[in-house]
Amino acid sequence: MLTLMNLSKKARGNGHALDDLSVRDLLQNTGQTEDAVAKFWEPLALATLNESLDIASARLFAEVLRRALLSKKSDSNLAISKVGLSDLFATPMQQYLEGHGVPLSFNTQATRVTREGAGFLVETNTGERFATDQLLLATPPNALAKLLAESGSEFQGLFPELVRFGSAPIVSINLWFENFHPPQRMLGLVNSPIHWVFDKSKILTGQRSSHLTLVVSGAHALAQENKENLVKLACAELQRFFPELENARLYHSQVVKELEATFSAQRGLNRYRPSNRTALPGLYLAGDWTDTGLPATIESAVLSGHQAADALLESHHAR
Ligand SMILES: Cc1cc2nc3c(=O)[nH]c(=O)nc-3n(C[C@H](O)[C@H](O)[C@H](O)COP(=O)(O)OP(=O)(O)OC[C@H]3O[C@@H](n4cnc5c(N)ncnc54)[C@H](O)[C@@H]3O)c2cc1C
Repeated sequence: MLTLMNLSKKARGNGHALDDLSVRDLLQNTGQTEDAVAKFWEPLALATLNESLDIASARLFAEVLRRALLSKKSDSNLAISKVGLSDLFATPMQQYLEGHGVPLSFNTQATRVTREGAGFLVETNTGERFATDQLLLATPPNALAKLLAESGSEFQGLFPELVRFGSAPIVSINLWFENFHPPQRMLGLVNSPIHWVFDKSKILTGQRSSHLTLVVSGAHALAQENKENLVKLACAELQRFFPELENARLYHSQVVKELEATFSAQRGLNRYRPSNRTALPGLYLAGDWTDTGLPATIESAVLSGHQAADALLESHHAR
């Protein structure tokens, strides 16, 4: 444990060497027991990196440890939202922007970007055209690669590192039971293919039915299974931990497979994460996958957004 803490402290300066190790390598090199890996390190790494220990970068994990366990107490608070994430983040953001006179287009995809003088022209799938002198692209890496491939010649080959970004799935299995509630609103299952169980009826405001969401991170194997098998597996695992489930009736189920939920936090990737500034003056990038030193998290996306906005404003004021 102590060695891990020291490693995590060095994470920033230690750069590539730590990034070339997987989390599994790091845990083995520091003598973690099988039990400690199964009960502590693996759940923590999967939840924060959304990638298996064999693939995930030790450097990103060390950064998570440094921030969550070695910083201020308030840096590692557990917050459970009582509303869905759209209500928590998207609606207030929309209201804020519209209140400040910012026009927004919904369900609209940028399909092509070209140079127009010293600025940019963005075309969309709805036939709209936006001319701008500064452009911030905030799509995930795979969507950016697709957009650039359709764009003007200046954009071709601008980010060769994009091909290195893979993706990692998250599978959520929703189950509605009659007469069953787990003892806690949030539970981690140790040594199980199911990682977390959330009792939505105890978490979300206004939910009355017994709705459980079972979450599997870094779910490369389970994402290949069909819905029926996933529901069977989920019920069998729940019953293994809660034998009383035998008497409860499952009356509805729904499986959500997010195949490209996040970028894969694979080892060796960190050095290829691009900066918010690009080689084209006036063009900026934002997103959790840019060079923030963090895994694919809301925290990384927010940090990247702030960095990109700072860079954009700096060059705007310098004009
Ligand atoms: C199921 C699930 C659970 C998660 N749980 C957590 C968690 O508990 N904690 C946490 O911190 N993180 C979690 N994450 C990760 C978190 O959602 C991401 O890290 C974060 O949303 C990344 O933000 P972003 O702005 O970089 O990218 P995104 O949120 O992916 O936003 C990119 C946007 O670009 C849009 N777009 C794509 N192509 C185009 C185009 N051509 N034109 C216009 N728009 C385009 C997309 O529609 C999307 O809205 C989870 C992710 C998933 C899928």
